[in-house]
Amino acid sequence: MAIQQKLSLMIPGPTPVPEKVLQALGKHPIGHRSKEFQDIVESTTKNLQWLHQTQNDVLTITGSGTAAMEAGIINTLSKGDKVICGENGKFGERWVKVAKEFGLEVIKINSEWGTPLDPEKFKKVLEEDTQKEIKAVILTHSETSTGVINDLKTISSYICKHNKALSIVDCVTSIGACNVPVDEWELDIVASGSQKGYMIPPGLSFIAISQKAWEAAEKSNLPKFYLNLKSYKKSLLSNSNPYTPAVNLVFALDESLKMMREEGLDNIFFRHNKHKLAISNAVKALNLKLFANEKYLSPSITAVKTEGIDAEEFRKTIKNNFDILLAGGQDHMKGKIFRVGHLGYVNDRDIITVVSAISNTLLNLGKITGQQAGEALVVASRYLEEIS
Ligand SMILES: *Cc1c(COP(=O)(O)O)cnc(C)c1O
Repeated sequence: MAIQQKLSLMIPGPTPVPEKVLQALGKHPIGHRSKEFQDIVESTTKNLQWLHQTQNDVLTITGSGTAAMEAGIINTLSKGDKVICGENGKFGERWVKVAKEFGLEVIKINSEWGTPLDPEKFKKVLEEDTQKEIKAVILTHSETSTGVINDLKTISSYICKHNKALSIVDCVTSIGACNVPVDEWELDIVASGSQKGYMIPPGLSFIAISQKAWEAAEKSNLPKFYLNLKSYKKSLLSNSNPYTPAVNLVFALDESLKMMREEGLDNIFFRHNKHKLAISNAVKALNLKLFANEKYLSPSITAVKTEGIDAEEFRKTIKNNFDILLAGGQDHMKGKIFRVGHLGYVNDRDIITVVSAISNTLLNLGKITGQQAGEALVVASRYLEEIS
């Protein structure tokens, strides 16, 4: 029986939480209408704008990442509106479902799981829309289900050229992991969630909104109450909330954003990038194949194919032997891939440990030699050192 309670979370959310943040969570709640709480909201709002590299509003909603995406959709669009949905994984599929649920007319632009969305397809559909009937382009930046990052910068430039359509983007596993300059890329709606790059538990979601999106909100007729963003904007003028927010999660957010500011955006992006390179190259040294197109690897999650090995059994062994939780494949990828989350509060030790755990498991299965196991560590170490 292994020692308990030393779980290492290496899934793409919830992610590990720093001690300081846990302590903030453990404080007594305070009144959400108090001056003390308003001061905290003022601080988190400023730091959220810093993290998003934006002067736009960034609202905090009590709810998971899906709430922020749904809010973006229902606050800016109307029944029957035509939208493009980019779909190359499980989350892309979710946004199609939400759009259809609210009676939007969806034009899908797909790409196979593991491959990125092709920006040229967006360009073509947008250029052909001379009547400006397309009201929004909904897509996922880092597609967590496959470990692919889509070329949001290029796609957004085509959306901007269209001039009418808004971008509504799921940046849940890219914000706080890689560069997402919201203002520079002119993104209209950017959604994210607390249990990912923010290093706090699940329960809060964030939504950055451009002026253009607020103008669209004036015409939107889809039903909404709790997620009506105008109420959040109005309350934010007094650093407040329309309803009772998850007060302790806001304490935690304040702490984690301060930690992020201390580390600095460039350092945060560097760290995620080197961890991505270390893991992806180490698994290749172990004769495993990456699921995602190598030029489009997500900064926060690496999906690994396990040809000839049941990925679910593999994950179970790593959990039992090392207390490291890896993610499995979703839908038709279940049993075929495992996914290593390296998002948020992750350091080099976590990377070396997970590479060793994977090597050890393959060694025990007789799939690799001791020398290969050693080489994988050398490869990982090289990437960790080269860029530090
Ligand atoms: C985690 C995640 C979400 C949000 O999921 P919730 O469970 O609603 O927090 C959305 N998109 C992506 C890409 C994610 O990884």
